[in-house]
Amino acid sequence: MLLSGGRSRPAARVEQRSRYLLNSRRTVRNHQRIRSRTMTAAASSTQRPVSVADEVRAARRVFDSGKTRALSWRVEQLRALETMLTERSGELEQALLHDLGRKPIDGYIADIYSVRTESAYVRKNLGKWTRDRRVRTPLSMGPGRARVHRQPLGTVLIIAPWNYPLHLALMPLIGALAAGNTVVLKPSELTPRCSAALADLLPRYLDADAVRVVEGGVEETTALLNEKFDHIFFTGNETVGKIVMAAAAKTLTPVTLELGGKSPVWVDDTFPIEKAADWIAWGKCTNNGQTCVAPDYVLTTPDVAPRLVDALRDSIRRLYGDDPKSNPDYSRIVNERHTARLIGLLESGTVALGGAHDLGDKYIEPTVLVDVAADSPVMREEIFGPILPIVTVENLDEAVATIRAGSHPLAAYAFTTSEAVQATLVRETSSGSLTINALMLQLGIPDLPFGGVGASGMGSYHGEHSVRVFSHERSIFRRGNFSDFLLRIARPPFTERSEKQLRR
Ligand code: NAD
Repeated sequence: MLLSGGRSRPAARVEQRSRYLLNSRRTVRNHQRIRSRTMTAAASSTQRPVSVADEVRAARRVFDSGKTRALSWRVEQLRALETMLTERSGELEQALLHDLGRKPIDGYIADIYSVRTESAYVRKNLGKWTRDRRVRTPLSMGPGRARVHRQPLGTVLIIAPWNYPLHLALMPLIGALAAGNTVVLKPSELTPRCSAALADLLPRYLDADAVRVVEGGVEETTALLNEKFDHIFFTGNETVGKIVMAAAAKTLTPVTLELGGKSPVWVDDTFPIEKAADWIAWGKCTNNGQTCVAPDYVLTTPDVAPRLVDALRDSIRRLYGDDPKSNPDYSRIVNERHTARLIGLLESGTVALGGAHDLGDKYIEPTVLVDVAADSPVMREEIFGPILPIVTVENLDEAVATIRAGSHPLAAYAFTTSEAVQATLVRETSSGSLTINALMLQLGIPDLPFGGVGASGMGSYHGEHSVRVFSHERSIFRRGNFSDFLLRIARPPFTERSEKQLRR
């Protein structure tokens, strides 16, 4: 039988196979190239300068050399990052297990697969996103051509937190490299194994001169903040966000702040309660609630609340059985300080589900609190743990008023099939994102900007937004020089005639 194009099926198969072999050979060659570069990088990193100021100066020198501006360099960096995530997935998963007790498959999905997918998406679209964009030239300004030219900012600082220690270091790194910057990356000291893995692996796979990892805690971050950067990208809590912004203000350095907040979930009886409970139990317990876009608390009416508690009991049991403590799928709080803080929050209401804890084991059972007053401690701060307060309100208006009374959250959620309710939430509330009938999936849609508003942050990234945040959009206008009509009439000496022409 002939296929379109007149080839027989076996012939097409042979062709397909040889194309496959060619591609695999190309991939192997790419890997070999990366490996040999890796070894050179590792060798040269032994003679590296050590002070924070030296690192920044060296990164700036590399930027000034111009090599990071080439599209080919940027694409190569992203490809190398993807190779690193593929080849080193095992040891990165072990680092996550060590630092956060996170099961390897959880670590793989949240910190490895998601980053690799984002990198490939950005890499494939980079040519299009970095091409000059022509804009209309008004007749009165012409003849000429106006365009927007994206250029890298220079040397940027990325400060990452501990809760998704690889994801939140590497996602901004993708944007920074894609835009052609050199980078100083500061991972969180609270996840030391992940920090060490980044410091070890990134220079082996990426251009070690252009991407520099500075490990350490407050002291090192403070030293970094004393240096001059072209942009600072910070992910973490609001208090440190203010420190970063104050430091940046001294040198008028632009900042992106990816902060947190109390993300509310509205649940009403138009949506199947059991399904809503399944989503909420999963969202609240994933990474032990230590997710910036985790559902923080539920707003619902008094008739729905008890049904939701019952449904949550079943959902949690389905996820972790009767003893979450001994279930390897259930991770732990990052350290004893945060565990003690969470234990304190259990006093803020009546424990309807869970409530067990073990400070030494950094364990908090999945917990639901009811009878929670709006001004109780658990409602005053971001929970960042597996404790879910259910706040009852008379109606949607009261729920909207409760959301508006606090700072703008990073995420807002609603389980409702009522289009009127959905429209009210879109119109009457503000947050980094609003997701309806699901939780946290907004993160996986690369064309949606990810970021906060007000106290939950400033600026956003992911996909093309990441390239934009790390680029300067430069206006370029080239005027044709064969007409000087505008120049003639728009400058003194004004005559009656030229004034008339101008006014017209
Ligand atoms: P963290 O303690 O790891 O801090 C983040 C970074 O700030 C670290 O690199 C740390 O070394 C540095 N740092 C800490 N104290 C400092 C100081 N006094 N001066 C200078 N630098 C300092 O992480 P965290 O802040 O506890 O993370 C949790 C918070 O981050 C939550 O509020 C969460 O919602 C938010 N978060 C937001 C996002 C987002 O994408 N918007 C993602 C994850 C976490």
